[in-house]
Amino acid sequence: MNFSDSEIVASVMTSQGFDVTDKPEEADWIFINTCSIREHAENRVINRLRELQHLRKKKRGLRLGVLGCMAERMKASLLEDDKLGMRIDMVAGPDAYRQLPALMTDVESGQQAINVMLSADETYADISPVRYAAGGVSAFVSIMRGCENFCAYCVVPFTRGKERSRDPVSVAGEIRQLAEAGYREITLLGQNVNSYRWKDNVSGKLTGFSDLISIAAGTDPRVRVRFATSHPKDISEELLQRMAEHPNICRAIHLPVQSGSTSILKKMNRKYTRKTYLEKIGAIKRILPECAVSTDIIAGFCGETQKDHEQTLSLMEEVGFDFAYMFKYSERPGTLAAKKFRDDLPEQVKTERLNEIISKQQQISMESNRRDVGKTFEVLVEGLSKRSSSNAMGRTSQNKVVVFPAGTHKAGEYVRVRIDSCTSATLKGKVV
Ligand code: SAH
Ligand code: SF4
Repeated sequence: MNFSDSEIVASVMTSQGFDVTDKPEEADWIFINTCSIREHAENRVINRLRELQHLRKKKRGLRLGVLGCMAERMKASLLEDDKLGMRIDMVAGPDAYRQLPALMTDVESGQQAINVMLSADETYADISPVRYAAGGVSAFVSIMRGCENFCAYCVVPFTRGKERSRDPVSVAGEIRQLAEAGYREITLLGQNVNSYRWKDNVSGKLTGFSDLISIAAGTDPRVRVRFATSHPKDISEELLQRMAEHPNICRAIHLPVQSGSTSILKKMNRKYTRKTYLEKIGAIKRILPECAVSTDIIAGFCGETQKDHEQTLSLMEEVGFDFAYMFKYSERPGTLAAKKFRDDLPEQVKTERLNEIISKQQQISMESNRRDVGKTFEVLVEGLSKRSSSNAMGRTSQNKVVVFPAGTHKAGEYVRVRIDSCTSATLKGKVV
């Protein structure tokens, strides 16, 4: 989401005549687009800002802006010199990017500038993002912003505001432009894509996510469509049926479970149980037997017992996730959990549980990859492998990374690759 937002920021800036550079020492302004999801993410931002102070000593007049969720969460306190031990010139929240040039003018006239107003309708629909993704093969298309789910641990509803969806006509237009520019894969992005909802003012026609994904898939058969993220309480059989109708909708669903324990899920305010989550997985496997499922897991939420933790491990095995993002619980100020529950698990217990979850997932991913050895997959080539320029890398519809001898194959091409070996993270094979 931040990657996509940075492309919107670059577009706002270039449309006002500014240039973008990837060399910090050339810049007059540096914007840091920030994440508040865990304390660790914020600490990384603070370290990055500290590093930039050295540059500032060498280059007088260099200005710094903090953008995104940390700007929204910490607001004007970021402008106090003693907060971070440095001077920040500008603070702009996720809905304020159109105002960046005006804020810069304020700073250049000698003030600090801030805009952290959240909006009920900003979707940046008319802004055509400047693309930075490597290779020009795969791009993000933002379809909605904000979140109103208020999971107890999560800061997003506070930093990104109300849910709002983008006009399907502008979504389809952006996909068409990307296809013409040679892109072959788009990922529809939202905090909770299943909440996508657009009502046409004139016809009164409603477009839901299942309709939108059909529109996206129908735009160009050469373009693959992915989406992230789905909330397990909202993913519907209708969506799965629509996916089954379109071969160019990728067979991969990211369905964050967070915990395998129903009592922890209730405390997290996730609005599903272990049983109903498993029923959704059952529906995916029934309607889309080839579909990969990935997830997010939080270790050590408030009051999590050893038994709760074991339920997470057993659920992981039961589902057989192809891939997972795994985190230690990090208390975020202002969230429901921070107000209602004690962050009571010792750091060491959180670390042990996270490590167990990670090694369990490695084992499951390895088994999943081993089952693919001997099979042939259609792979979209993304470019050369980072490790060796004689190899190319690409992804299967299931979003698995495949490495194979590059030959003359180019980024953006589809090739059929027969898998002959694997690690827990990568499939290896040859073009057939
Ligand atoms: N909207 C998406 C997730 C966005 S945040 C969804 O609901 O699925 C991405 C992931 O970060 C979450 O799925 C969760 O696993 C993790 N996360 C969010 N808040 C967290 C916190 N306070 N501590 C640890 N992990 C957290
Ligand atoms: Fe956070 Fe829950 Fe919204 Fe995802 S659905 S962004 S985890 S509040």
